[in-house]
Amino acid sequence: MTFADLGLSDELVQAVSAKGYDTPTPIQAQAIPQVLMMRDLVAIAQTGTGKTASFVLPMIDILAHGRRRAMMPRSLILEPTRELAAQVAENFEAYGKNHDLKMALLIGGVQMGDQVKALNEGVDVLIATPGRLMDLFERGKILLTGCDLLVIDEADRMLDMGFIPDIETICSKLPAQRQTLLFSATMPPPIKKLADKFLTNPKSIEVARPATANTNIAQHKVKVEVRKKRELLRHLLRTDNVSTAIVFCNRKTTVRELAKSLKQHGFAAGEIHGDMDQSSRIAELDRFKDGSINILVASDVAARGLDVKGVSHVFNFDTPWHPDDYVHRIGRTGRAGATGRAFTFVSDADAEAIDNVEKLTGMKIPVYEMAAEAKAERAPRAERADAEPREERPRRERAPRKAREAAEERPVREERPAREERAPREERGPHRERAAQPPREDRAPRRDRRYDNEPPSAPGEWNGPVPGFLNVSAL
Ligand code: AMP
Repeated sequence: MTFADLGLSDELVQAVSAKGYDTPTPIQAQAIPQVLMMRDLVAIAQTGTGKTASFVLPMIDILAHGRRRAMMPRSLILEPTRELAAQVAENFEAYGKNHDLKMALLIGGVQMGDQVKALNEGVDVLIATPGRLMDLFERGKILLTGCDLLVIDEADRMLDMGFIPDIETICSKLPAQRQTLLFSATMPPPIKKLADKFLTNPKSIEVARPATANTNIAQHKVKVEVRKKRELLRHLLRTDNVSTAIVFCNRKTTVRELAKSLKQHGFAAGEIHGDMDQSSRIAELDRFKDGSINILVASDVAARGLDVKGVSHVFNFDTPWHPDDYVHRIGRTGRAGATGRAFTFVSDADAEAIDNVEKLTGMKIPVYEMAAEAKAERAPRAERADAEPREERPRRERAPRKAREAAEERPVREERPAREERAPREERGPHRERAAQPPREDRAPRRDRRYDNEPPSAPGEWNGPVPGFLNVSAL
């Protein structure tokens, strides 16, 4: 099957093949014809499956006909994070290069002026994070009544971040007669409810989870004492044919310290975590993409959904506390036909977390046996210089289960600085006090409404350099 077989225009097929793709992925093969037929869609698909092109491509053809109007975007794509929004924008730029479509990106941390200017000129596609969109809407800078096509991407992430009430409000501002596409990696009850409420007779599509079903990923777990994790990592980095690797840690302090330690041992390593501002994160990611560094130490939220191609290895330096993070993490390797390896380090402190991962994925991850000579070689050194520093020892590595379950200790969420996307309270319009709040249990706890990918100095504007494509409103 080719992209032309799916009913896409010649100009679009040309742009797709210029990107080097000629065979649609399963989600693309199933979704594109449905979207072109103007059907609503509920798609269970993760990043790594090619899902972005499955809505971007048909949208470009649908939007090719029609007229732009000031302040009234013709279509809207909601993304949970700025990074994902920026990635979708990059996709629009690449695939839409043969079309005269205008795009605007509404994300927090970027001066509002440029975004408002782009909106005033009229846009075909608005790509937004819910918080910034709500702010502009409440300030009367945007009208959603001309928006006939809505994409809700990564709906389960939106739920995690407490965006569902905002999405409900946004949906209610759009014309009732519209096309709605909802993408989610999982279908928890609140997302099912959202789909039932706001989609009309949707076509349901489900594609295999790339991480669990993907035989291109060799998964291993390695039993290791906490204080020997760094040494084990260095050993594998040196001996397992690593070309590029992402190393995931559960805490940002571990990210920082591990990256520093790897650099001290001569590795070309960088870091990405929630304490870094947006410009530093983009700069670090660019260094990884252009090969200046080949090891990226990352926290989950900072790395979520980022499209980094050709990663040969994923290392879970800590077994993730949230089992679905395992699937997201290892999905960074073995993507789009490439093969990859995923190693999960399991200390005593990780025992419960690995159980949860194996329950979720429905498989026992094979134990990786270190070669005997490697063990012998590592043992004496481990007792000396390579031991973990004090603060990395088990005592701190894992809080008691009860404590972790308390909201204050939600480990990944704790990385998320305050929600910068919102204007300060007094600047918000009366709309904030809207009566149509969903029942309390549908709303994520307050601290879940904060997220990692915001600059620590919220609520100020981001003063760092703005990547070219963020400023560009025209395709
Ligand atoms: P996504 O799931 O949208 O994050 O896409 C995952 C990766 O697959 C991205 O690097 C895309 O550029 C790539 N991709 C998208 N469509 C195809 C395709 N038809 N063939 C190969 N790779 C693709």
